[in-house]
Amino acid sequence: MLAFANACDDIAALPAKNAKIERLATYLQTLEGDDLRAAARFASGNPLAARDDRKLAIGGRTLLAAAERTWGVDGTLVSLAYRETGDLGEALARVAREPAALDLFSETLTPGGFAQMLDELASASGKAAGKRREGVCERAFRACRHPREVAYVAKILTGDLRIGLREGLVLDAIAQAFGREVATVRRAAMAAGDVGAVALAARAGGLEDIAIRYGAPIGFMLATPMTFGSSYRELAAGTWLVEDKYDGIRAQAHIRGNTARIFSRTLNDISRSFPEVVAALAACPHDAILDGEIVARRGEAILPFRYLQPRLQRADPDAALQAEIPVQFVAFDVLAAADRFLLDEPLVERRTEVAALVARSPALVVAPWHTLEPGASPETIAELFDAARARGNEGLMLKRTDAPYVPGRRGKWWLKLKRELSTLDVVVVAVEWGHGKRKSVLSDYTFAVRASADDATLKTIGKAYSGLTDVEIAEMTKWFLDHQTGSKGRALRVAPEIVIEIAFDVIQKSSLHDSGFSLRFPRIVRLRIDKRASDIDTMGDVERIYKAMLDREGVDV
Ligand code: AMP
Repeated sequence: MLAFANACDDIAALPAKNAKIERLATYLQTLEGDDLRAAARFASGNPLAARDDRKLAIGGRTLLAAAERTWGVDGTLVSLAYRETGDLGEALARVAREPAALDLFSETLTPGGFAQMLDELASASGKAAGKRREGVCERAFRACRHPREVAYVAKILTGDLRIGLREGLVLDAIAQAFGREVATVRRAAMAAGDVGAVALAARAGGLEDIAIRYGAPIGFMLATPMTFGSSYRELAAGTWLVEDKYDGIRAQAHIRGNTARIFSRTLNDISRSFPEVVAALAACPHDAILDGEIVARRGEAILPFRYLQPRLQRADPDAALQAEIPVQFVAFDVLAAADRFLLDEPLVERRTEVAALVARSPALVVAPWHTLEPGASPETIAELFDAARARGNEGLMLKRTDAPYVPGRRGKWWLKLKRELSTLDVVVVAVEWGHGKRKSVLSDYTFAVRASADDATLKTIGKAYSGLTDVEIAEMTKWFLDHQTGSKGRALRVAPEIVIEIAFDVIQKSSLHDSGFSLRFPRIVRLRIDKRASDIDTMGDVERIYKAMLDREGVDV
């Protein structure tokens, strides 16, 4: 693992994308077999294959306990180092000692060997799972010969390398390392759902043999926010397809023969929560991968998101719950049909395919849409927006008619329009005990945005009392206690994994938080269990909202 750690340290220090790609390519060239598969996955920030929906469930606590047993260091020392570095991997690397003499005879760590340990971690379940996980982490630490290995072992375990690599760049590096076309590598990655398998196939010259894998979810295409009430200049760029923005659960449906599975945005299989949707999808005559949104719907009325929560939380819902909260899959895109990938077809073509593929039923419909010629007026947009709101939907989605489907990317092909200019998806980084009635629950959250899409450094931007329900607050309290990574006065630092949506009235410059901004009247709109920390908003989003606000107020920036 030392070569992996050295490569990552170099990559972190290289600012230019191309230089990062080249460094990674040089390293990947030196590997084969299990080591190549594992190193490619690790470099993209995944401890397991992306299509693997198991979780490692390793929190700060487990790592601290394992560190204590390996090196005899005590937790406060690690907390101190964590406070200075802001990264658990770096903190552990500081406190790690030379391996004990005995350990020198234990295993040495290779990427392939470490991948096996990760597999054990992901499979640990049942009563003694916690202890087993701790034991595996200890074994991994004992096998480290160098503090840089410790740093990256911990970073991989917690799922964030912070070296500015995304899966896209890893795929570019694979193409470069083994002399393949980038487009071929990307295509294979979509089909395989695992960069590790793609690296192996690229080395062996077998990329073309990777076929569409029904049952292996593909990354979701995402939209860039547009500011409500602006002049919508971005719309001059082309012809747009406009549809409602549904406030439900984004879902990818894989229809194969007379079976179907549904995956959430975090690529988890959620089929068991929505049996009536599965049955409706399975009745479609052709194999296909559809993109859409699951909404709660009674007759014509779309119900607010909170109605969906009990459905999402319950596998195998009984007939009563199905009748109480009827759900529907609204299909708006198609990624593959039979053995054809449709990702590079223009959206208009894909929409025609969706209409042909879907066998409509109460639990399955195609999203209605309009076409908007270039340069549509703000009045037209406002009318469409109000109509969408009147139907119970959140706003509008605008998609370029010539757009390909770009998995896992937020680009300018898709734009989203919501009224509250002022909501941000943020991650909770610290929590505090409440006051009065709430003194025994952690109800006060400090939250952060990402530095940028490529830089996972977290920048705090505000603090809010929880607007969640008492049950949610109690559940979150338990989670935060299990995932604390240190403390400061009354506040507990926690693993940055819980994503919340924050609404606020005004954004202003401030030295109070490390983002350089603060929010007025921030309130928690809801937990975003559908989002991961890597999906949260960035400093770029914050600056855009800030500028838009000044623009509207007629202030020069
Ligand atoms: P947000 O959750 O605010 O980041 O908005 C992006 C989300 O909008 C996507 O992940 C989808 O779940 C959701 N969405 C709702 N309606 C649509 C639609 N018609 N097309 C694409 N995404 C949609």
